[in-house]
Amino acid sequence: MSNSTSILEDLLQTLPELRTQLYFKSSLTALSHAMEDQVLAGVGSSLVIASFQRERFYRQEAHRYLRISERADQVYVLAAPETDFANRSGQYETIAFAPTDALAHEWHLVVIGARYAACLICREKQVPIAEADSTQLATDQARRFEGIWTFDRKTVCVVAELLLDRILAYRPELATKISQAKAQLQVARRISANNADPEPFAERLVTYLQAGQYKLLKAYRSIAAKEQKERLVNSITAAIRRSFDPEEIFAVAVRELGQALRGCRCLIYRCKETDLSVTIQHEYLGAAVDSLVGQAWVLRDNPLFQAVVEHQERVYLNDAQADPWVLEDGRTVLPPGSSIAQPSAREAQPESLAQRWTIATWLMVPVMHQNRLLGMVELHTCGGTLHEWTEAELGLIDAIATQIGVALIQAEAYAHLEDLNQQLAALDVTRSNLIAITGHELRTPLSTIQVCLESLSTEPDMPPELRQIMLQSALSDTERMRKLVQDFLTLSQLESGRVQWHLEPLPLQECVDLALSSLRTRQQQGDLPEITAQVPVDLPLVQTDGEWLVEVLSKLLDNACKFTDPQGRVVVQANQNGGQMLEVTVADTGRGIEPNRLETVFDRFYQEEGALRRTTGGTGLGLAICRQIVTGLGGRIWAESSGKDQGSQFHFTVPIVCSKPEEASPKNRTERGKIPRARSR
Ligand code: ADP
Repeated sequence: MSNSTSILEDLLQTLPELRTQLYFKSSLTALSHAMEDQVLAGVGSSLVIASFQRERFYRQEAHRYLRISERADQVYVLAAPETDFANRSGQYETIAFAPTDALAHEWHLVVIGARYAACLICREKQVPIAEADSTQLATDQARRFEGIWTFDRKTVCVVAELLLDRILAYRPELATKISQAKAQLQVARRISANNADPEPFAERLVTYLQAGQYKLLKAYRSIAAKEQKERLVNSITAAIRRSFDPEEIFAVAVRELGQALRGCRCLIYRCKETDLSVTIQHEYLGAAVDSLVGQAWVLRDNPLFQAVVEHQERVYLNDAQADPWVLEDGRTVLPPGSSIAQPSAREAQPESLAQRWTIATWLMVPVMHQNRLLGMVELHTCGGTLHEWTEAELGLIDAIATQIGVALIQAEAYAHLEDLNQQLAALDVTRSNLIAITGHELRTPLSTIQVCLESLSTEPDMPPELRQIMLQSALSDTERMRKLVQDFLTLSQLESGRVQWHLEPLPLQECVDLALSSLRTRQQQGDLPEITAQVPVDLPLVQTDGEWLVEVLSKLLDNACKFTDPQGRVVVQANQNGGQMLEVTVADTGRGIEPNRLETVFDRFYQEEGALRRTTGGTGLGLAICRQIVTGLGGRIWAESSGKDQGSQFHFTVPIVCSKPEEASPKNRTERGKIPRARSR
């Protein structure tokens, strides 16, 4: 059964002189409670009719209606059922109206007693969605109702009658009870005025108003706090995002956060989980306390720092001078007097830190990114000022720490990008240089070859000696080109990282012997300076790729001989330089190298006299190749010279094999340590 007419409309038709008014839901709740309180405070027979839009609204008041039913003769509660609300006669009558009934949009309350009468009869106003507030709280409390609230007995009785008729339609079996109620209304109608004591009603209403105001204030305060937090986070975020420089990010963040929170000391620094200490660079002091700038701030031996690292969340000490240290969640950080630090670091123990820097309340908030600790935000109150951090403050600091993390990662990414850009630019320059140099290096011998061959073909009468010279030049430049191409291919193979190193234990002596014998096969004995090898027999084996090591030795020996007169000397030496490496030196008494060129000689195509004026031959790639090989084999190479005509020494290191003693025996050496073949040169 359903009735589509509104009780409010029925009332306005009956009493057209009535004027409706607008009420917010919160006002209706206050008024209804104040009216119900009249019943609860009153004596004598009374009638209460309450109509709720939905069962759930009634549920919130069900307990109250039990108490009301103890005070009133007749209580009727109407609601649209949602679960088990039904027509029932218990301590009071419940009437389940159809959800399609106009009652589902209305809010009614009638209370009639001997000394009071009041009614509230309202219909919910449908607010267009665009006008409705977006927050849940605002939409519920700001729901609007239009209707009448009055103490006028005549109106109250008319409303009661309209509602009783509606109840009768739903619950015909209550006819007798309802006619008794109507008879009661006749009596109530005759009472000319309300002679109730208005005080409880007014008091109650004021209490509701106050409570409402209090809620409002609370809401304003929380909105203001939220707004302040958002403004601060935004301003810090904007400031730190403007920069890609981590130092500037820290400087801005520490200042803004320090000013906002007005702590005694605010620190922000970069750190890792494993850091022993950090030098403080960014600090904000909000009071006359000692500055930590420039101080080494203990981290790993500070249990508070350890707790942050372990839990990856902020930790907070209420009283840093207390014994023991107890975190805000009750965890004990450090038992009294315990010393987890090394005795030598005793004065760096956290207790002493707290005392030395007069820290009363100590907060550490980690700056994290993907479970990686990037830095820390610290806030101290100092002296005797203990501070209870509020959730809002902690939330704010957390939010700022997050922003700092994002800004740092952004700065890091930017720095990488800049590095990559620089590397790319450098690569581009190298590539262009390489093409130019290679072109030039290839063209030069090619031109000589061409000139020689042209002369030979166009001048058949050329004297045999000249002919021989021409052929010799063409041949030697062909050989130079072959070497250049060979070296170029070797270098690009090494630089691309495509070389497979075949490491094995080898005696260095064998490599030296191989390099010397190949040098002697290639060069006329008379042209060479005196060469001596000083390799102690008891040297440990080296863990290396023999073929490549011989290549390095050959190139260094070639150079030494090339740049030393036949009257000079070349010495190959080796010794164990104390560590896990053998140091090999190829020294000569030749033309030497200027001190400012000692590093440049390892550049590709570096030749002191320039390619065109070269008298000694060579490609300018030899030392670049040596550096690639030695580095690839786990060592390093460098040059020393006292300058022009002072001779040169080229040193390089090779890793020693980590072997058991018997593995180093000569037997094993010859079986396992044979160098398969010398590289083709
Ligand atoms: P190159 O084929 O020209 O020898 P390298 O890369 O082997 O190319 O050497 C580069 C340059 O380093 C040489 O041209 C020479 O100027 C200098 N250099 C190398 N070894 C010696 C040395 N033992 N004495 C003096 N200068 C040397």
